[in-house]
Amino acid sequence: MHNQAISEMLAAPSCWQKQLPCRTARAGNLPFESDVVIVGAGIGGLAAAVRALESGFSVTVLEAGEVGSGASGRNSGFVVPIPSRHSPESLQHLLGEDTAPFLAALCETAQAVFEYAPPDLTIKGWVQPMVGTARDGANKLAKNWMRLGVKVEPMESETLEAALGTTEYAEGLHFSDAGAINPLAFVYQLADTVNRKGGHIIERCTALDVRPQERWITVQTQRGEIRAGRVFIAGNAYGSAASLKTRRAISPLALTLATFAVPQLYRAERLLPFSDNRKDMWFARRLGPTKLLTGCFALPLQRSLACSALLQDRIKRLYGNVVKEPEHQWAGWVGLTPDGMPKIHHHDERIIGWSGCNGRGIALSMLMGRTLMDRLCGGNGLHLPLSSSTLKAGNALTWLAQMIIALDRRKQRRTVLAS
Ligand SMILES: Cc1cc2nc3c(=O)[nH]c(=O)nc-3n(C[C@H](O)[C@H](O)[C@H](O)COP(=O)(O)OP(=O)(O)OC[C@H]3O[C@@H](n4cnc5c(N)ncnc54)[C@H](O)[C@@H]3O)c2cc1C
Repeated sequence: MHNQAISEMLAAPSCWQKQLPCRTARAGNLPFESDVVIVGAGIGGLAAAVRALESGFSVTVLEAGEVGSGASGRNSGFVVPIPSRHSPESLQHLLGEDTAPFLAALCETAQAVFEYAPPDLTIKGWVQPMVGTARDGANKLAKNWMRLGVKVEPMESETLEAALGTTEYAEGLHFSDAGAINPLAFVYQLADTVNRKGGHIIERCTALDVRPQERWITVQTQRGEIRAGRVFIAGNAYGSAASLKTRRAISPLALTLATFAVPQLYRAERLLPFSDNRKDMWFARRLGPTKLLTGCFALPLQRSLACSALLQDRIKRLYGNVVKEPEHQWAGWVGLTPDGMPKIHHHDERIIGWSGCNGRGIALSMLMGRTLMDRLCGGNGLHLPLSSSTLKAGNALTWLAQMIIALDRRKQRRTVLAS
């Protein structure tokens, strides 16, 4: 359930969608049949399409809106090769010996994202500053991530101040293989690759139903039917109609993003993108010399004005700048799962879907798209350590997450008032 203000932010275009000229989609009718039909033209669907085309299959991608109109064109653009909500210990506890291969595949995919993404607005390096950790916490964490093959260095207050332009943090971690991109430009590159390799992307064409039959699968759409040999469902947290089931498997949480004019951002040498370890995560990246992108979870009963006031307070606290209201504000759906791992949905061996990025899905969606397509097309693919949770996500998890964020927000406010 969400209020009017959140609905408006969810409907508003992202800063990337406002900025980039609309891609001209290759016009075309729905083909009669296709070896592979993919539902959803976000990172996951398009990465899967490229993989299937490279394996010699004919591919049709059906997109209810436009390329990148789901989370892929509305996110912050942080490319991070570790899953959210996990420490090295919790990840190892969950995945056992699959942990290191999974992280290696995520790191490799993150590098592939940087190779695809246009250099405009690409920044290499991402920082996770830490609050409330035990002394020497960053050193220990860095060692544990490194043991699992992740490239990371601990940071102290001085290096953090130089990298982030704020004295807010005493320690943190620097991930040199992570960074930030213009996410929509990246998605457009993927779509162009699909077109160049002979795939069909049909926009404004919702897949209404997927019906397996003996010899083929019938996909019913707004524009008629298409026969498929294999179907990949990549609607994720934006799933509707034929991909509604994958959306129902996750708990959706609205995350609002906003851009602000901040005249004195030059205080930081580079201003690396960062997300801290608070439950009510503080994160930011620079967009040009005087523009900052930041955001927060949009809680029910919260007005868009309250979100912007909260973000203005954070900018003041971080950089000492009093800033005007946001230049632009929007929101998108993040899909949570109980254990923070993605969920796969097997209908039969010819139809596969997945959902649940837990807010960190740029590299993960590309990895899932590639790997699940390999599996669908007969290969083994990487053994993906996926959510083994038998708990249903659903509203309870959404409410729990919102409660934790609201409590953390209250705690932070009290700390600020007391200091
Ligand atoms: C505000 C926000 C900030 C984020 N920030 C980051 C970040 O900084 N770093 C990071 O790694 N991750 C981030 N994420 C998560 C990341 O954006 C997603 O995990 C990722 O984009 C998911 O890609 P996807 O292709 O799986 O899904 P999507 O991009 O959501 O694509 C699914 C597509 O399927 C289409 N679709 C659904 N149902 C149908 C149907 N029946 N027929 C046809 N089409 C259909 C939808 O229209 C949509 O375009 C963020 C998410 C949000 C919302």
